[in-house]
Parts: sequence; C-alpha cells; structure tokens
Amino acid sequence: MVLDDLGSSLRDTMDTLRGKSRLDEADVEEVVREIQRSLLSADVDVGLVMELSDSIETRALEEEPPGGTTARDHVLKIVYEEMVGLIGESTELPLQEQTILLAGLQGSGKTTSAAKMAWWFSKKGLRPAVIQTDTFRPGAYDQAKQMTEDAEVQFYGDPDADDPVQIARDGLEATSDAEVHIVDTAGRHALEDDLIAEIEEIDSVVDPDRSLLVLDAAIGQGAKDQAQRFEESIGIDGVVITKLDGTAKGGGALTAVNETGSSIAFLGTGETVQDIERFEPNGFISRLLGMGDLKQLSERVERAMEETQEEDDWDPEDMMEGEFTLKDMRNQMRAMDRMGPLDQVMDMIPGLGGGIMDQLPDDAMDVTQDRMRSFDILMDSMTEAELEDPSVIGAERQRRIAHGSGVPAERLEELLEQHRMMKRTMEQFAGMGDGDMQRMMKKMQN
Ligand code: GDP
Repeated sequence: MVLDDLGSSLRDTMDTLRGKSRLDEADVEEVVREIQRSLLSADVDVGLVMELSDSIETRALEEEPPGGTTARDHVLKIVYEEMVGLIGESTELPLQEQTILLAGLQGSGKTTSAAKMAWWFSKKGLRPAVIQTDTFRPGAYDQAKQMTEDAEVQFYGDPDADDPVQIARDGLEATSDAEVHIVDTAGRHALEDDLIAEIEEIDSVVDPDRSLLVLDAAIGQGAKDQAQRFEESIGIDGVVITKLDGTAKGGGALTAVNETGSSIAFLGTGETVQDIERFEPNGFISRLLGMGDLKQLSERVERAMEETQEEDDWDPEDMMEGEFTLKDMRNQMRAMDRMGPLDQVMDMIPGLGGGIMDQLPDDAMDVTQDRMRSFDILMDSMTEAELEDPSVIGAERQRRIAHGSGVPAERLEELLEQHRMMKRTMEQFAGMGDGDMQRMMKKMQN
C-alpha cells in the first residue's frame, strides 16, 4: 500500500513516546527524522518533505498538548492534520449528470479505472456509460467491453474506427440516455506531442465537466511532469491513483497532486471493477497511521451483504432463526469475499490496522483466502441434503467429495470442523434473550 513504510515506521516511533506526558526536543527530532526518511523513500518530493516536517516540528514544540492528552496523541494529531493538509480534500464529485474525461499514459490504468468508476456511479444510483476512444492500444476495446460487462454498465466503442474524436462524438450520441459519461482516451508510452494534441481535440468535442488524470502509484518523480503537462493542455481537476494494492510507493503521485494544486478523486486497489474507493483524506491518513477507517469498512460490509442477499437469495435473519447450515456458512464466506482482500479489510479496523498486519507473514492472508476458495469448491461437490445437514456425510462420502473436487481430504475435515464450531456459536446466540445479548456486547466493549 502507498506509504506503507511510513505507516509502520511512524507507529514504531510513536510507540517509543508511550507513557510520556511531555515531549522534549530530542523526541520531536526523532519523530520528524522518521517521517522524513519514510516520505523520501516513498518518492515524495524533497521540497515537500522539508515543508511538511518543518511544520510538524514547529507545531509539536510550540503547541501545548490539551489537558489530558498524552505526548504521543498530541504528536499523532499534529502529524495527522499536517498529512491531511498535504494531501488535501478529495476531488469534488457531485452525484449528478456529468461527463468525465480520463487522461494518462499507456498502462496507467485508464481503461480499468473507467469501468471501475462506472461501476461506482451505478452503485450510487446513477446510469453511467463508458466511451472507449483508445484506437492506439490493441486490445483496449475488448478490455473495456469485458470490464463494462462485468460492471453491468453501458458501453460504446468501435473496434474498426480509427478516429478517436469521431468515436467520442458518436459515443456521446449513442449513449445520450446515460447520466454519467466516462470518456476513456488513448495513452502513449511517454508524453508525446501527438498525445497532447489528440486529447485536446477530444476535450473540445466532449467538453467534460471534469478531467481526471490517471496515475500509476508506482510512478516516481515523473508524475510531476505528467501532471503539469496535462494540466496545461486540458486542465486537471483530480487524480485517480491506481495499483495501490501492489508494493508501489505512491509518493510520486502524491507529489504530483500537491504540485499541480489538484486533488485525489479515486484510489484503485485491484484488477476487478469493484476494486475502487472514493478518496477520503481523513480515512486514508487514519489508515496510514494505523488508526483504522471505519467509514470505508462499514460501506464495504453493507455492500457485500446486499450483494449476497440479492445474488444468492440469502437473508442473514433466517440464519438466526433456524439451523446454521453449510449453505449459511457458504453465504457468509461469500459476503466476506465480496468485501475484498482480507488484508485491506483488516487495515480499516482501528487497532488492527498496520500494526498487527505487519507482524503476519505476507502470505498469511492469501492462505486464508485460498482456504475459503477450496471450501467453496468442496461445497459444490455436495448434495442439497448434505449442505442442509452435513452430519449425514459419512466416511465414504467424505472420501468421494474430496476426490471429486480435487481438494485434500484434510481440507474437508477442516471445513466440517469449522462448520461445527460456527454452528455451536450460532446456537448460543440464538438461545440468548435480548438482555443477555446486551450484557455480552457491553462486556465485549470493555
Ligand atoms: P490503460 O492503458 O491506461 O488503459 O491501462 P489499463 O487499464 O489497461 O491497465 C494496465 C494494467 O494495470 C492492466 O493489466 C490492469 O489490470 C492493471 N491495473 C489497473 N488498475 C489496477 C489496480 O488498481 N490494481 C492492480 N493490481 N492492477 C491494476
């Protein structure tokens, strides 16, 4: 994740301040040095790093911590506020009819982001359409077509045409009943004059309400040039930073945003259409500093539950009333899966963010998702009756289910054991009156 290193090293430094009520200069210097080191190694521009660390240092030494706050919380608050200030507000994006133009170099993630954004707008209740004008990159048309199908949104493109401006014009006309038009453009391997000329022409035909620059999080200092060049030619209202799920540093993109006075609109966190987040500076920085992001988390949970209810026709309420079957377990797993990669979900939980994840081996989460997938395959090989009541599965059937699905027999045992455990827990819940439940919740909070 972007600036991951900053998050973890900063948390370590902050931990050394635990228990202190006052900060001395050496403490502040230590924190500031750590911030500088991490930001620089994340490719954030030197000038920007100095500016940020100066103001953190000044504030930490001059401002009195409000009564009752520890030195650690005081510094954390200052770092948080300064970081939010550096990154700025998210790009304004009213939920109404509009046309959005996407610009960027080839491979930055434009086509992917166009489909993701369309998906995002459709979830907000608007009717979007993606118009693909990239005649330069072979495969752009097919990719956009496939992804917009996945996103279940309208699409316009013409694989045989070679004039992007004409495609844009035709596309707007053909999708005139859509409310949000997202126009994808061609990129080039590097900034070239013909790219700028082409996008300027499309810009004048499309007359977008917003132009967004798509930047790969892995881009270093080059981001600044790109942002400036596009800013001068078509005007950039906001940036989409993609591939934040990788090991990218992200500092270059942040620098570009700051330098051009633009803002971040969306973050791309994976290859499927749902891997997109509206940028929220507060939540983003909180997550970075290991403070969690409950808003994103609850949005994801809600969305995943809704989809599971719609697509698998499953109501969690029913589960609370009757027996907890393997089907219920499978639906719970699917809802979990729809929330996205577990490590991203964990990062959003206050107290679990960063700190704990850093201690897990990198592949720990993959293993868990791997296991969920093999559980799913095993359940595909079971009969309806077995899914309703797995206690009917005898030794011979166990052997055949494992064999038939090509999953090791131990996995099947794990699945059945997990189901037994969950069933027991659900039965305990079901046996409780409301009063018991409230008492238990209270206990968990303390
Ligand atoms: P374009 O040339 O700008 O249209 O770029 P594409 O949309 O084709 O993206 C280039 C590559 O990056 C593709 O393989 C995408 O699947 C991948 N990609 C785009 N966004 C993301 C992201 O947020 N995360 C990951 N992991 N891959 C992405």
